Amino acid sequence: MKINWLIIFSFLIITACSDDGGGAEMPAIYDVAPEFEPYVQEFLREAEKRGQSFDFRETGLSIQFSELPLNNANGRCFLGQYRVEIDKVDWFSFSELFRSYLLFHELGHCALDRLHRNDKFDDGSWKSILKGDPFTGFDDRKPVPYFGFRRDYFIDELFDERLSDPDWGDITFDYDKDLERVEVSQTKPTESRLNERFSGITDDYEVEVAFDFIDQRGIWTTLEWGAVGSNYYIQIVPDFGYYIGVKDDGFNNILHYRQDTDRANGRAIDNITIRQGDGFEQIFVNEQFVFHLDRQSQLDYVALSALEGDQVVGTFKINSLKVSTIQ
Ligand SMILES: [Zn+2]
Repeated sequence: MKINWLIIFSFLIITACSDDGGGAEMPAIYDVAPEFEPYVQEFLREAEKRGQSFDFRETGLSIQFSELPLNNANGRCFLGQYRVEIDKVDWFSFSELFRSYLLFHELGHCALDRLHRNDKFDDGSWKSILKGDPFTGFDDRKPVPYFGFRRDYFIDELFDERLSDPDWGDITFDYDKDLERVEVSQTKPTESRLNERFSGITDDYEVEVAFDFIDQRGIWTTLEWGAVGSNYYIQIVPDFGYYIGVKDDGFNNILHYRQDTDRANGRAIDNITIRQGDGFEQIFVNEQFVFHLDRQSQLDYVALSALEGDQVVGTFKINSLKVSTIQ
């Protein structure tokens, strides 16, 4: 089965920016389609909180769906023209969070006159929602973790590119830390998938799963955990890499990407540990810290399975699941 790369990319924000407006000066009119108006208002509120104000009725601002699908981009800005175009199909496939990010990115160009900024924190995450082409290597696959505690930073940075790096930017967590664990459950699943339910664990917790990595094209291995309806997930795709994201209100929001599926900490991925501590959700892959997220309020379930298309892969081997609370 062929991997549907389109599915992966449709969850990524890709922006193209152009300074080629054909030389035509845009008249100073305010022409924002109703779909985008709430985000423009949100932009103005965030600006005001930071002591900045904009009068788009004075400067003009046009935000419309593009007439034709945008090639390899979700949106584009015509620099210096207060003019933005958004791809319609992409727009309706995005969560509210990603829509805000996409418009803030474009307004970063059009209202704030900013160009792309492509430096990163130690965990590989972009430092700015103004990341954009040209990319090197696999950087085009990397999302901006515009979510939770990072979101405030990204908006601060949007309005002030000289902002110093946040404390959490280059943080790392120690897998071998001494912890007092109380075992909640320990299973050695004999089946090829697991879906363990818990009765609302609200203490700090640790989830450790061990499995045999499937290095076969077309198979997607997914670990999900957290609260029903709003949970985190890790999705591993052979020959591609893995994503960490948050599923919220039915939308997948990709927040982090790593390419190293077959050599994480020197071997193929066979162990994922989720640990709550220091107010965060810490993610270790093969005992190596890779990323941290906002602490989830409770743990209702842990699910792990491998799918090929819609079919569960019966030969997927899950070796163990260990869930503990941390005192
Ligand atoms: Zn851009």
